[in-house]
Amino acid sequence: MKSLIDLQACDTEMGNLQSRIAKGPMKIKELENQLVDMDSEYEAAETQLEDLRRLRREIDSDIEAINGKIDKANTKLSNIKSNKEYKAALKEIDDLTREKSKLEDKAIELMEQVDALSEQCRVKKEERERVYEEINQEKERIVQEMNAMDKAIQSLSRKRGKFCKKVSDDLLRKYDFIRERKAGLALTPVFNGVCQACHMEIPPQRYNELIRGEKLLDCPNCHRIIYWGDNEQFRKNSPKK
Ligand SMILES: [Zn+2]
Repeated sequence: MKSLIDLQACDTEMGNLQSRIAKGPMKIKELENQLVDMDSEYEAAETQLEDLRRLRREIDSDIEAINGKIDKANTKLSNIKSNKEYKAALKEIDDLTREKSKLEDKAIELMEQVDALSEQCRVKKEERERVYEEINQEKERIVQEMNAMDKAIQSLSRKRGKFCKKVSDDLLRKYDFIRERKAGLALTPVFNGVCQACHMEIPPQRYNELIRGEKLLDCPNCHRIIYWGDNEQFRKNSPKK
């Protein structure tokens, strides 16, 4: 029974480690998704910035074109003879100047937007580098933790082999059979007449048999192998009450 208790403790620990190892790749994937989200956010801001800058360049060249037209109109003005033509040319210059001033306002507005957005991009970029660094360290830590747990499992598996040798083949088969069907727990102590796996009370007669310790018994409710957990002999090996 003692070896069986050791075996169950060993299997429980291995099971815990295995389920923790199984979570590792999931955690890493989550971290990587975080990076992907941040990258696409940053790229969207950069694209927007590019668009604004292009718009700004377009407006600059529009302003230049208007300047050309104004120069031309001014030259024309000095060669005009009739009053009517003169008025028309003045109006043209006036219109062009008003249009130019609108474009200049727009250019200033765009320049402010470009400045604000490029500052945002700069901050985002720094933030991204910082988070990249953190996430890479975290990934590294998870991988190391997984490796350490792998090693622990290997050493537990060697221990398990030793415990198995001390248990009869029949009992070991029964133990493994139950363990596979009962979420890794085949053996459980009974404290004060209560099965510690399913928390049901063991009928008095069976409990008395258990205390006598003459044969192998199981819990009538969950069918796991039970042992008398209050027994001094087993107490130190048993899971805590
Ligand atoms: Zn039970």
